[in-house]
Amino acid sequence: MRKALVTGSSRGIGKAIALELASRGYSLAIHYASSREAAEAVAAEAREKGAPQAVVLGADLSSPQAAAQLVSEANAALGGLEVLVNNAGITRDTLLIRMKDEDWDAVIQTNLSAIFHATREAVKIMMRAKWGRIVNISSVVGILGNPGQANYVAAKAGLIGFTKSVAKEYATRGITVNAVAPGFIESDMTAKLPESVVAEYLKQIPAGRLGKPEEVAKAVAFLVSDDAAYVNGQTLCVDGGMTPH
Ligand code: NAP
Repeated sequence: MRKALVTGSSRGIGKAIALELASRGYSLAIHYASSREAAEAVAAEAREKGAPQAVVLGADLSSPQAAAQLVSEANAALGGLEVLVNNAGITRDTLLIRMKDEDWDAVIQTNLSAIFHATREAVKIMMRAKWGRIVNISSVVGILGNPGQANYVAAKAGLIGFTKSVAKEYATRGITVNAVAPGFIESDMTAKLPESVVAEYLKQIPAGRLGKPEEVAKAVAFLVSDDAAYVNGQTLCVDGGMTPH
């Protein structure tokens, strides 16, 4: 059965993606930055749901080169790697004029440069197998823009362009590269937002509610499946109808 690495799968959207893939029979590498115990619990749940193997790997992706090492560790631990979901991400929100150099650098390194390093390593492995699926978790704000998130939006928009380019490079090699752009999803990331901000966002969501991590996970599970073989270089918005195309 296929083997998948989901970065940032100790909690939130990454956890839901890992568990969805587990229930579909994938072996999994569960990755965390600091929440080791939570990651161990996700691995146990993944095995209960049907993952033949679930290993736990730690890496701080604010040093982007660590992402390549993480991919090769996952490949070694699982005995192959057909699926990479670049999900780990952070925010350092503030208005541009207050944004410190380190707020910019941390978000670009973790949310964009780490994905370059992970993807380059994964493509080498997938080319040898002549099959692979990469899904990059972007955001609707990477399409729409968002005040207070210039660093995050630059990374998420960059990820969409990166996805389109890499998809074109390896389209003949059995490898697809797509992005998923979640809207506002219930997670630790959005739990930090003040109630007034959430109320404002709700006005922009036709569905009238935040999304659930499991709803993002279903979209990812489709894109990494055989059913999505002819879907490549796309950005699939999972946002309750928020983003016009
Ligand atoms: P979350 O609940 O904050 O979880 C973040 C995950 O990333 C955790 O597993 C965390 O590991 C890991 N992580 C954080 N810093 C890291 C670092 N320096 N190195 C490696 N891993 C690190 O986030 P989420 O809401 O599930 O978001 C997941 C992805 O979806 C992100 O890329 C985010 O930008 C994107 N997204 C989220 C929303 C939303 O509404 N929530 C909307 C659009 C896009 P630890 O547990 O060890 O800290």
